[in-house]
Amino acid sequence: PSPAPYRGRFAPSPTGPLHLGSLLAALGSWLLARHAGGQWLVRIEDLDPPREIAGAAAAQLRTLAAFGLESDLPVLRQSERGAVYRAALDRLLAGGEAFACHCSRSDLAAEGGIHRRCMAAARRPDPAIRLRVLPFTVLGFDDAIQGRVVQDLGSEVGDFVLRRTDGCWAYQLAVVVDDAAQGITEVVRGADLLDSTPRQILLQRALGLPTPHYAHLPLLVDADGRKLSKSLAALPVDADDPLPALRAVWRALGQAPEALAGAGSVAAALQAAQRAFVPAAIPHLPQPAPLAATHNT
Ligand code: GLU
Repeated sequence: PSPAPYRGRFAPSPTGPLHLGSLLAALGSWLLARHAGGQWLVRIEDLDPPREIAGAAAAQLRTLAAFGLESDLPVLRQSERGAVYRAALDRLLAGGEAFACHCSRSDLAAEGGIHRRCMAAARRPDPAIRLRVLPFTVLGFDDAIQGRVVQDLGSEVGDFVLRRTDGCWAYQLAVVVDDAAQGITEVVRGADLLDSTPRQILLQRALGLPTPHYAHLPLLVDADGRKLSKSLAALPVDADDPLPALRAVWRALGQAPEALAGAGSVAAALQAAQRAFVPAAIPHLPQPAPLAATHNT
């Protein structure tokens, strides 16, 4: 069978306005998709009502449109996909790969926050559902930008949450189910998510889903190559004046600034960017692969 055609995506969480860090992921994933002659989809990851800001998803989509970045297919919203996540979870529960966890915060704290076995003295009415990781331990994959990444899931992550005690679906489950359901062949996103990828691959295997290719983009740096402070990278981008932000993330992707110098509109800048884009110039992280898991454990 011929390989599936390239399909990439950008998957923001609507927790605020689109910031420079997310614009980098949006433009990087869009450029790589266009370079490969592929499709690019936008998915709204509105899984976490407590962290969501009303109106943020619509504002993010408006901002993306101002940057000329629009989904090739209708935008998928994770808040509408509970039944699909439920079905995946039920399969894992039925197969014994997932289990209800009655541990309390203090049970987990006693183990350094890493779940390796249940220590709960009592059952709780609202157990979390976790994926059983042990006895499995080390998982590696080849990232198109960062190279070989290896994580010891057993010691660094432990059994991880698929559905939280508050009933919310965990990012790890939803992202795996939706990347597969949408036929995503290439996951291109910020390097802050690099340490989630081994979990996602393990979950794909447990669910019998294909593993896409992964490419993790560099973090934002300033003109002198210093990492931008979190607050600077988190500044909302100005949809009324998109060219400066577009130029900034273009440079952060390791691309030649001159290529966009003459562009007077977003459309002209995106055209010039497509022509001049050199995927191999995207910088990788100064250090090899992260070691500790921090995101959405
Ligand atoms: N929604 C996630 C975030 O904004 C990104 C998910 C992904 O690209 O896999 O951090």
